[in-house]
Amino acid sequence: MSTVHCPYCHSEQVILRESQPNGPQYFEKILDAFSPPAMAALGIKLAKEAGIPPYIGGLIGVVVGGTLVMVSQHYFYRHYKSAQHYHCLQCGQDFAVAD
Ligand SMILES: [Zn+2]
Repeated sequence: MSTVHCPYCHSEQVILRESQPNGPQYFEKILDAFSPPAMAALGIKLAKEAGIPPYIGGLIGVVVGGTLVMVSQHYFYRHYKSAQHYHCLQCGQDFAVAD
């Protein structure tokens, strides 16, 4: 087994920890980025540029955004389950290492 280094400060002072019930922070950030309201806003913006009525663009954005959230949740949880989670004692950051 190789030594795990912190990706933030490259310290070897890391401890293995159990999975957190709330999930990793980066997962929540991704969900924020692909949230239906954000996608609807993006769809409306793109629809205006493409000459499509904004409500259609918003609808497409919500559908695409909802699909992306479901797909990313599916893959992230699968990935997240197989990953090992560490906590850095040096800088206090949490990170996951996939095998
Ligand atoms: Zn660190």
